[in-house]
Amino acid sequence: MKGIVFSIEEFAINDGPGIRTTVFLKGCPLRCEWCHNPEGLSPLPQLMRKRETTEMCGQEMESEELARRLLRDEQIFRLNKGGVTFTGGEPLMQAGFLCEVLQQIRPHIHCAIETSGYARKDVFREVLGNLDFVLFDCKHTDDTLHRKYTRVSNRPILQNLQILMESGKEFVLRVPLIPNVNDTRENMVTLRNIITGASNLKRIELLRYNKIAGAKYSQVGMEYRPSFDTEALTQCHADILKDAGIDVMVL
Ligand code: SF4
Repeated sequence: MKGIVFSIEEFAINDGPGIRTTVFLKGCPLRCEWCHNPEGLSPLPQLMRKRETTEMCGQEMESEELARRLLRDEQIFRLNKGGVTFTGGEPLMQAGFLCEVLQQIRPHIHCAIETSGYARKDVFREVLGNLDFVLFDCKHTDDTLHRKYTRVSNRPILQNLQILMESGKEFVLRVPLIPNVNDTRENMVTLRNIITGASNLKRIELLRYNKIAGAKYSQVGMEYRPSFDTEALTQCHADILKDAGIDVMVL
């Protein structure tokens, strides 16, 4: 199968265990108001203006071609206890292509995805079966607010989180902390109640909102216009998670 890849970054240290190569797949069904990768939203290649130059963002690749490229660094991954992480956009949007690549590289390389978890259950299960590790985002536990700020329901996401918790696959839960959107005690308590008892949860990472999120929008002809107050201080409430015995990292 062919897929659309918009970046391959080497030596990543925040995308899973060890030193990793991160592969960015194009397309995302969500529209989070804090998204800092607007070039990953459209599933199609598109022009991107960078200073004086214009370049194509997104390149069609055969699964074999991408697998060969990643297998080249197999020894480096092994020595550094690292591997490959697929992100986006939303990598589950190209699930068929992703599975083909994973099936070719996984016998040799540790494989992870970073995902919003927004996909059909059968799609999520199939991809999960080809993975060693998952970085799973949880943007809001309240469905109404999730719809307001990401334009999709969180129901499929919470269902897939349940599947992940029951799978035994090691995972990290990531929460982007957005001021006055999801950085409330109520959201953190609900999240704690959902996640308590998941023995395969390695830790929760709380990622503070970064004002540079809007930097690339004009490069792809979009406007960055979040409805929340980007200047407000972000609350963290890590104590709620720590008191439940959960390992928390604030980034
Ligand atoms: S899920 Fe990720 S890539 Fe998609 S809109 Fe949200 S932040 Fe952006």
